[in-house]
Amino acid sequence: MKVLVINAGSSSLKYQLYDMNDESVLAKGLVERIGMDSSILTHKPTGKEEVTEVSEILEHTTAIRKVLDKLVDKEHGVLNSVDEIQAVGHRVVHGGEAFKSSALVTPEAKAEIRRLFDLAPLHNPPAISGITAAEKNMPNVPQVVVFDTAFHQTMDEKVFLYPIPKVLYKKHHVRRYGMHGTSHYYVSRVAAEYLNRPLEDLKMITCHIGNGGSLTAIKDGKSFDTSMGLTPLEGLMMGTRSGDLDPAVVTFVMNKEELTISEVNSMLNKHSGLLAISGSSSDMRDITDGLEAGEPNATLAFEMYEYRLRKYIGSYAAALNGVDVIVFTAGVGENSAVVREKVCENLTYLGVEIDPELNKIRSGEPRRISSPNSKVEVLVIPTNEELVIARDTLRIVEESK
Ligand code: ADP
Repeated sequence: MKVLVINAGSSSLKYQLYDMNDESVLAKGLVERIGMDSSILTHKPTGKEEVTEVSEILEHTTAIRKVLDKLVDKEHGVLNSVDEIQAVGHRVVHGGEAFKSSALVTPEAKAEIRRLFDLAPLHNPPAISGITAAEKNMPNVPQVVVFDTAFHQTMDEKVFLYPIPKVLYKKHHVRRYGMHGTSHYYVSRVAAEYLNRPLEDLKMITCHIGNGGSLTAIKDGKSFDTSMGLTPLEGLMMGTRSGDLDPAVVTFVMNKEELTISEVNSMLNKHSGLLAISGSSSDMRDITDGLEAGEPNATLAFEMYEYRLRKYIGSYAAALNGVDVIVFTAGVGENSAVVREKVCENLTYLGVEIDPELNKIRSGEPRRISSPNSKVEVLVIPTNEELVIARDTLRIVEESK
């Protein structure tokens, strides 16, 4: 079965086409600047040259039509006909409490995703645009939605509730949901497989650190706790997000600086984190370059980032009453040897010991970076959220037959 995976943003649409017989990627690409004067479609068929096309793409329906055209293109295509696509899987950020796993797209499912617009105003509306656009272009193909939040629905009430008036949970569904669920799910499974040990026996802390970042404590293969909350703002210090702070900072700053809700939201989500402290970049590559050069602001940004990450690992080790495996994944986790080194250097009290040489290797494959003496297995596992979406799509479609 061939499955098209779609990740729709407000002005972008990423896609990957899978042949699920061997889980190979036939093509992938990205449409950027949807709704702007010149949109860019970048298409990469596996084993062939990447092609870029600039045109006017005003909305997602046209974007998907252009993608389908490329997939069957004589020169750059990988399919004889669009009919070869037998299912479409969509990434949806927020599934609230309604979606504890992936689901077939039905009018009810779409209505529920719309009800969740309030909780994910930036993410869920473009997902609906992507679903509607795919339905218009491929009316007879089953569609599946896969949620970032679903994996975390196993969290206990004592973990997901905030200690604020309970009426806010009842009325407005204010609670911890967590994000990056497909990634935490995927790397935890790959970790158990790599170690050749039963998932249920392992207490794991998975660190998904990219532009955004979250940690998950995993017990019995299930999400026990996770650092993102009602929104992706809670938890770690990130590229442009503050992560945890005293909630009173928000009202204090709003008052002093006469900021609106939208301004303070933008400050905390887009102008904080590494960017705010370094004063120059949200990208960990620039921060570590600055660290090496002894640049004081980049050094402080790095030290705060590492310190906050380490504190979370410590708190999750306490939450789980121990830790057997720590996994690093996503842009920073997979690529930044210095972040991993500095974090692990200060986790010796847990019995963590990494091998500096193994830590330097970059292979794109799951690998161990801890030394044989380490009491905790420390792994680097490249994440693959698209593959999880493709697998779930296949499963849900087969189950619905
Ligand atoms: P997103 O959260 O947007 O999905 P990614 O997981 O792709 O992002 O992570 C992107 C981030 O990864 C970049 O902004 C950069 O900070 C970091 N990164 C990528 N490569 C490296 C590297 N070699 N060293 C340090 N950081 C890196």
